[in-house]
Amino acid sequence: VSDLLATSRHLREHLIRRATLLVDERRARSNIETFVQRAANANVILRPHFKTHQSAKIAQWFGDAGVTRATVSSLGQARYFADHGWQDLTLAMGANPREVADYDDLAARIDLGLLVDHPHTIAALASGLNHPVGCWLDCDTGYGRTGVPWHDTDRLHDLVSLIEDAPNLTFRGLLTHAGHGYVAEDPANTFSQTRLRLQEAHTVLKRGLLSAGDTPGFATTRDWSGLDEARPGNFVFYDLMQLEADICTADQLACAVACPVIGVYPERQEAVIHAGAVHLSREALQDGSFGRLLGLGEIGFEGLLPGWELERLSQEHGILKAIGDQARAELVNLRPGNLVLVAPVHSCLTCEQFDCYQTLAGETLPRYHRESF
Ligand code: PLP
Repeated sequence: VSDLLATSRHLREHLIRRATLLVDERRARSNIETFVQRAANANVILRPHFKTHQSAKIAQWFGDAGVTRATVSSLGQARYFADHGWQDLTLAMGANPREVADYDDLAARIDLGLLVDHPHTIAALASGLNHPVGCWLDCDTGYGRTGVPWHDTDRLHDLVSLIEDAPNLTFRGLLTHAGHGYVAEDPANTFSQTRLRLQEAHTVLKRGLLSAGDTPGFATTRDWSGLDEARPGNFVFYDLMQLEADICTADQLACAVACPVIGVYPERQEAVIHAGAVHLSREALQDGSFGRLLGLGEIGFEGLLPGWELERLSQEHGILKAIGDQARAELVNLRPGNLVLVAPVHSCLTCEQFDCYQTLAGETLPRYHRESF
């Protein structure tokens, strides 16, 4: 612990100059191990979504826990993780007919899974692929984003037949993402409904595996009977959204942004940090807050500090409000150049704003860079 404190002091005093994404490796590894154990207990394959961290070094923490398969949400991420030795990847975004040649290149070197829900996409893959690809049929179990509704059995049947008839496509099964579990009163209930709906569709099709995603469902539901694969991603870091929904506890929050204070205004009970929407994203909690504080000054993750709220964001500025006596007393002692640790509302989107992570031990972990063309 004293080593960590010394490093944290070093980071604070010498290395952190501007908004910096920090990861608590110990917490992230513990979150990973918990889910690996849960998957083993539930007897499902864990295929974690790597879109949350997008880092080969953090992927290695999953590898250390025995994970060998992963999910990604873009072709670029798939190439990046393939380049770092990941041999079994599902690209869980609707396949894009414009990228078929790229899928084919990738399928020449890894075991690639793609997602479809339209005959035109299947036809584009059938005519453009020279290498075998696993094909998942996207099933909408209630989120209403993509996929064939679970009860539309004629369409499910027709699409499975098209996949089975296509050269180089192998039908893997039905894949769903129950994103509506995030805003549900009872995520466990949403998840059981998802499971039952997938099983209902499967009873009609009589073939293929069943794959479901989402951290709230996996964190709250022990009964995964009938399902084959789980694809949660957010759990590696969690965030304030998950905390507010009681999916995690504050001591599981594993990433935060260290932000320099650039203004202190006790007369309006506010401080200003150089960290705005470009650093944190504009994702807000239900009460409108853009973040809360995990620490003031030291670079060690404490519990959430009561009375502090990131109340407003512009492109580069964040306005921190001190509410209550304790936070106001802390505000008086803040100075420009101090650091505050902001816990993100939605870690996937906040991490996306940065090129790399700093661990609390001072190591830099690079992230994948999105391709723009
Ligand atoms: N699978 C798909 C298709 C997703 O879109 C997502 C997240 O958006 C996940 C899995 C992982 O879910 P979570 O972020 O709740 O862990």
